[in-house]
Amino acid sequence: MEPYDPHAIEPKWQRVWEEAGAFAVPNPDPGTPPNPDKRYVLEQLPYPSGTLHMGHMLVYTIGDVRSHFQRRTGHEVMRPMGWDSFGLPAENAAIRGGGHPREMTERNIDHIRAFMKRAGWAIDWDREIAAHSPDYYRWTQWLFLKLYEAGLAYRKASPVNWCPNDQTVLANEQVKDGRCERCGAVVEARNLEQWFFRTTAYADELLDFEGLQWPERIVAMQRNWIGRSEGAELIFRVDELDIDIPVFTTRPDTVFGATFFVLAPEHELVPRLAAGTPQEDEVLEYVRLSAGGSAERVDPDREKTGVFTGRHAVNPATGEPVPIWVSDYVLMEYGTGAIMAVPAHDERDFAFAQRFELPVRTVVVPEGEESAEEGAFVEHSDSERLVNSGEFSGLPAPEGARAIVEWLEQRHAGRFAVSFRLRDWGFSRQRYWGAPIPIVYCDGCGVVTVPEADLPVVLPDIEDYLPKGKAPLESNEEWMRVECPKCGGEARREAETMDTFVDSSWYFLRYCDPHNERAPFERELADYWGPVDYYQGGVDHATMHMIYARFFQKALADLGMVGFREPFARFHGNGWVQYGGAKMSKSKGNTISPDEFVDRYGADPVRLAMLFIGPADQDMDFTEEAFEGMVRFVRRLWRIVGEVVSAPARSDGGGALTRKAHETIAKVTDDIGRRESFNTAIAAVMELVNELSRDVEAPDARFAAETAVSLIQPYAPHVSEELWGALGHERLWEHPWPVADESQLARETFELVIQVNGKVRDRLEASVGDSEEQLVERALASERVQAHLDGKQVRQTIVVPGRLVNIVV
Ligand SMILES: [Zn+2]
Ligand SMILES: [Zn+2]
Repeated sequence: MEPYDPHAIEPKWQRVWEEAGAFAVPNPDPGTPPNPDKRYVLEQLPYPSGTLHMGHMLVYTIGDVRSHFQRRTGHEVMRPMGWDSFGLPAENAAIRGGGHPREMTERNIDHIRAFMKRAGWAIDWDREIAAHSPDYYRWTQWLFLKLYEAGLAYRKASPVNWCPNDQTVLANEQVKDGRCERCGAVVEARNLEQWFFRTTAYADELLDFEGLQWPERIVAMQRNWIGRSEGAELIFRVDELDIDIPVFTTRPDTVFGATFFVLAPEHELVPRLAAGTPQEDEVLEYVRLSAGGSAERVDPDREKTGVFTGRHAVNPATGEPVPIWVSDYVLMEYGTGAIMAVPAHDERDFAFAQRFELPVRTVVVPEGEESAEEGAFVEHSDSERLVNSGEFSGLPAPEGARAIVEWLEQRHAGRFAVSFRLRDWGFSRQRYWGAPIPIVYCDGCGVVTVPEADLPVVLPDIEDYLPKGKAPLESNEEWMRVECPKCGGEARREAETMDTFVDSSWYFLRYCDPHNERAPFERELADYWGPVDYYQGGVDHATMHMIYARFFQKALADLGMVGFREPFARFHGNGWVQYGGAKMSKSKGNTISPDEFVDRYGADPVRLAMLFIGPADQDMDFTEEAFEGMVRFVRRLWRIVGEVVSAPARSDGGGALTRKAHETIAKVTDDIGRRESFNTAIAAVMELVNELSRDVEAPDARFAAETAVSLIQPYAPHVSEELWGALGHERLWEHPWPVADESQLARETFELVIQVNGKVRDRLEASVGDSEEQLVERALASERVQAHLDGKQVRQTIVVPGRLVNIVV
């Protein structure tokens, strides 16, 4: 055989697969019943904002191993690919590169597609989609109209996080420590008319993870993001302005201790409350300077800031007026954006009271005590009792909470309530590179939807697309001016575009029917392929993207467009990929593109290295050696298969390799198919190759070689195909996955013979995995053996692994 040369064999097989349509799967004919053996294998689609990085290399290689394995174990596998090509990442890349987003995006897509083919990933390219393509976003717009008609999309003025650098609104989740997650600029607060999806309509259902095979930490992240809590809504009244301000609290038992009241700076009542007071200017200045940065603002250790509004509200329990403050430690995104402050029983309220010398009143104490130590006593259990709480004093805290809410309910000053952290999803962006929102504004008719027949509202190619604080499309008069679809009068288009998370909230459904020109997808096809059986991607998308996609799925199910309510049956989050100990990121400049590695080592060794270095769901650190090690392994496999092919096979002996091969089949099948343990499967094949290398002339050497090649195929498809050919076969990609012969598998248990002074005294079933110590322990624990030991001292134990223990007394 020729020496192993990845650059010769890889393009050759890629051509073969392409010509054979090896990984394309046609849609079933209408009326085909559901196929329980279908497998929808999907990885999160990339932003084509540059080249791929090693994290993508990992994600798509995992998907590739899964799809090869599923196909070869008899499943009908759909594994598509597309581009999340609208939105900030692509637009910012274009701005940096000085080009137009469309040209830049399409160039990047061509480049990445070519790389994906070079990596040998088994993708059904007939299903390719791109978010920025009009035949895709036409349906994004159409779905928006359906949600709007169903009352699940609406427009309203609301406080938003504004990135002054990106010149656009950010979701709360896109603000980290008060800064824009994408560019690092300090985020400002603004009040803007915005479009929202009513995600909160599904808050309860989004908390139901029944039947989903998701890692516990992902479920926990979503639960936390949705943030359901039970408690009460209490009304604090501002008599002088005739305003009721509701607050949500999980601790209604402490209402008698509410000595002041705090509003978030973004709360809509703040300007009204401060109006005409001596503090007005100070309040408005404070509001202007505080924004975003939820994580930082709620940090208990951060020094509290705030201003008094000059107004008071009435504590509904005590009837006392309490001062109303504005402080940024209260967030709009939790509860009602206002709190009753109970400094005796809340750490942050306590810190605030200390800072501004506000009264602290203890209303809950441990059982048997009259007063608690001052400062944030925050239990809520039966062992605490209410004090200083009028007629409720003496009650255990939970019982007191119930009684107080019932009492306030009768006085119309409170009720039991559930609160969610989840907010409706603001999805309009003052940016150019996104799907236009199909809405026009008419002086006579108001907000009018663009008729379905007029979709798509095509995003015009404009020269000056740079963000400038208002939507760039607004400057394009020709595009903006439109005839009102209702009255035929003059109207103007909505100039804002959709967040790219809208595009990615339904793309997995479009893959099921990507060329449909009459609908986003045929329900029958979505129901045939969906839900996604294996979803792979970054844990960083566990909240926004995966919540939005679940919201879309549920809303579309309620609109009768799909027959299932959860988009992703299984989810696997992968770890961070590091190189030489540093997290790879563009900002650190230590990204090495997978192209370079594939050029240097070939696709197969790089693919193997991605999965061999450690468990795929944990962070991994790459070094040159990781790749070189895999090159050595592939060369060794190549050489040994060559030796097997050319060696004259003996007719006698053998058997050991057959057993080893079947053991390896069993292990690799379990590792890939059930345990999702991709690294240990490679190690098992390596062991088999080692065994094989010791006796390439054994009568079963060929079987062992075929097995090794067949099992490594999902990882290293090119070299496997080449070696499969050398072994006299063809089309390994569609060859059935090998099945282990049970009778050849090493038994997991054996009969342990126990002797005392050389005489057999007992027999036990023991596990082959037991250590010598464990075998001795089991032997000594036997009652029959104990009877023969008769209290004598054990002088020595002799272990014959897999057979016996002899106890010498
Ligand atoms: Zn920014
Ligand atoms: Zn009109």
